[in-house]
Amino acid sequence: MRQEHLAEFFADPTAARNDLLAAFRHRLDRLPTRGSSFFIHLSELCPVACEHCMYSSDLQRKSDKDSLSEAELEEAIRFITESRSQKLNITGGGEPFLKFSSILRLLETVDVPRVEIVTAGHWATTPKRTARLIGRIDEARSRNPRDPDLMLRLSIDRYHLNAPRPVRIEQYGNVVRCWAETRPRLAVGLRSIQPDLGTVDRLIAEELGATVREVDDWNRLLVLPDGQTVPLTFNVFRRSGKASRLTEDHQETSKSIREYYGPFETRPGTLSLATAVNDAIRGAYPPSSGLAVTLNSDGTFWIFCGTAPDRKLVLNRESFAEAVAYFFDDPITHLLVDDGIWALSDLVMDLDPAVHAMALAKNDSASLVDDLLGPDDVRFAVTLLATHHLVTRQRATLDAGHPLAGPLADPRADVAGLCRAVVAGRRGA
Ligand code: SF4
Repeated sequence: MRQEHLAEFFADPTAARNDLLAAFRHRLDRLPTRGSSFFIHLSELCPVACEHCMYSSDLQRKSDKDSLSEAELEEAIRFITESRSQKLNITGGGEPFLKFSSILRLLETVDVPRVEIVTAGHWATTPKRTARLIGRIDEARSRNPRDPDLMLRLSIDRYHLNAPRPVRIEQYGNVVRCWAETRPRLAVGLRSIQPDLGTVDRLIAEELGATVREVDDWNRLLVLPDGQTVPLTFNVFRRSGKASRLTEDHQETSKSIREYYGPFETRPGTLSLATAVNDAIRGAYPPSSGLAVTLNSDGTFWIFCGTAPDRKLVLNRESFAEAVAYFFDDPITHLLVDDGIWALSDLVMDLDPAVHAMALAKNDSASLVDDLLGPDDVRFAVTLLATHHLVTRQRATLDAGHPLAGPLADPRADVAGLCRAVVAGRRGA
């Protein structure tokens, strides 16, 4: 294969990638049949409007569709249940409590063993209101025949305290006190950012007359006066969304995602968040045969850290198996599921160092794959590299009619070198 020949395919990288996908046949006998963590975003809106929000969330609609309709929620429940995921995370995109009835509907129906709700806790304005809402959540969970374990996780950090519509320390206190006094059959946890280790957690401890006990690098326990404990976990600081505009970047006080996820690599350098359960509080991202799935409030869904940005689906009656089959008809999914996000990161660093640097600078695993594969020529180049890798290892074939079927079956072909040269040529380097 010569560089000039390959360069012709890059004249329209999107069309060339689609042609390649149409000819691609993987040889896996069995695709993943279940989910691991399932993330559902119920709303893209949020009244708190933190200055560091990775979703840039506030009460301004960013899209035509900011939440799931009732019918779509029922469809989502069917899909989640069919995925047999180990855990449902009601989180992200915005504040899920804006869709409180959807939270209740999920809790009373969805067939998963564990559920976690991530919330800012802005709704806990008085002890009475807090008790009423927590009571309704607990009742909904108890109506579910599956009787799932439930964790209500509050986001606590300086940006929530200083937001345009701030959450006050007393509101966090209302939630923890309500939980400690009424003993519902759900757990409460707190989640902060590493730069705030020892600050907001201390303020909450003072509010409650509690102490903070260290567990490990990123976990603490809030020990209440009666001895009950509340887990506290400290995530990396993400510089995506609105946080990209902050003057402070917290690089000195936050781990990078490479450091943070290091202990959870299945082999040195191999981190497949596509098949991991996100559960830092238990100190484990156990590898799973299942897929982590994200379902956004506009109805699109994808494999978390496992789907190219142009390969997402819209929930529309397909079975979980059909959706998985669609995702695995892309060699990039195989790359991400088998070899993980650092394998993709290394390929893109070689192809386009500037794109790589911008993607890594966000320190955000949720946006990493989309950013690395944002430019259509990089996406096509990675598709070629992943296809070459799979075909030369007899794990896939390309239909003989495809013009690159021969070159991509040649183990001696320097596909990486050729793609690097073509992409550099397109950048004028
Ligand atoms: S509370 Fe969460 S979703 Fe809302 S603006 Fe803050 S970080 Fe974003």
